[in-house]
Amino acid sequence: MSAAPLVHRPSAAADVLVSRAHVLDPREGIDAPHDVLIRDGAIAEIAPPGSLEPPEGAERVDGEGRHLLPAFVDPHVHLRTPGQKHKEDLDTGTRAAAAGGFCAVIAMPNTDPVVDSAPILRALRDEAAREARIPVGFTPCITQGMDGAKLTEMAELRDLGAVGFTDDGKPVVSAGMLRLALQYQRMVGGVLALHEEDPALSGRGAMHEGVVSAMLGVSGIPSISESTMIARDAAIAGYEGGRIHVQHVSAVESVEAIADAKSRGVQVTGEASPHHLVLTDEEVRSLDTRMKMNPPLRSERDRQAIVDALRDGTLDCVATDHAPHARDEKEVPFEQAPMGTTGLETAFAALHTELVLPGVLPLGLVVERMTAGGALFGLEVPRIEVGREANLTLVDLAAEWVVGEDGYESRSENCCFAGRRLTGRVLLTIAAGSVAYRQRAFALTAA
Ligand SMILES: [Zn+2]
Ligand SMILES: [Zn+2]
Repeated sequence: MSAAPLVHRPSAAADVLVSRAHVLDPREGIDAPHDVLIRDGAIAEIAPPGSLEPPEGAERVDGEGRHLLPAFVDPHVHLRTPGQKHKEDLDTGTRAAAAGGFCAVIAMPNTDPVVDSAPILRALRDEAAREARIPVGFTPCITQGMDGAKLTEMAELRDLGAVGFTDDGKPVVSAGMLRLALQYQRMVGGVLALHEEDPALSGRGAMHEGVVSAMLGVSGIPSISESTMIARDAAIAGYEGGRIHVQHVSAVESVEAIADAKSRGVQVTGEASPHHLVLTDEEVRSLDTRMKMNPPLRSERDRQAIVDALRDGTLDCVATDHAPHARDEKEVPFEQAPMGTTGLETAFAALHTELVLPGVLPLGLVVERMTAGGALFGLEVPRIEVGREANLTLVDLAAEWVVGEDGYESRSENCCFAGRRLTGRVLLTIAAGSVAYRQRAFALTAA
């Protein structure tokens, strides 16, 4: 029998009454104030607001004026373990996730060493069982050493709990290698999550190739570096009948390639990152290295295409691509800086502030897309339904805060939203039936 897909350090089951919160779960069709009682880590009762009293031993959490949502699932994070714990580890990374309202994350394998063998995956899962505050799923590499030449033992890794496979950080350059990986994927299950980029087109680019890069004299990464690889890989997936998931889609041409593949019945899904949904290459004019990520922030036209694709379902889910880097690694000239931004602690607030409040996307749709990513890897979708394990987040949609002002739960602070005033704050997260996070000020007022 295969191992469970998710691992975390078990902690006390929650006994909590959230009273009078506005409960919103688009899948359950709930959008109204309720009392929600969590007993022994499971949703025991959903009742009219103010009708329930906390049973003996249960804590009351005041939900008045706040929203109770199904907790989010992030299918794309970098927890930097093993080997780069100065950036992040399983404790700090999952703490950051819980602080962002997430109840589960899927970790990428471009660590040191990379996760490309059974012993490494086994050791990593053992570590997660000791340290992770919320459940973590792992996607080992598609190719050994992530160098694109030889497949990993995909069947064995699946038996050990791999939820999918990816060489994220790098593309699978060889079409033949991707074809072979898809043939195995069809046999063993899971999904191939693809970082789509043609290195021959990206070259030494450090930002989006466009008006801003030309003005700054910084070499650019053209959109076709991403879109041509998506078109190629979707064609191979269609031919083989395999399943691919396109990571961090950034360009309008890429959205078109995915929409085209979907219309032809190819099993392809896609994700959008908060930074690509909110920011553009205009931010790079400052040469702030927190604005350097891969794929890069692109034009306003691209940003709008990503938003539209998330709305119409061409892109299936939100994924942060949380990519922590130490301060000294980022405090170098723009062209030398490593690529990546942290994102777990700001994802919901950034999307709420920049897309929900101006009326671009409805709150329910953002919640749906922020909870959808795990299902693409075979994980259960969090739902606010009696009998389910509690995976919930309580948010204050009116709370304003400045990103970074109170520090971060993540070990790294390379956040592209640093210094921004955002509206909407996670107060409490219950993951896998246990309280995983309480916002500090909220915990004080509740006590
Ligand atoms: Zn990537
Ligand atoms: Zn990534």
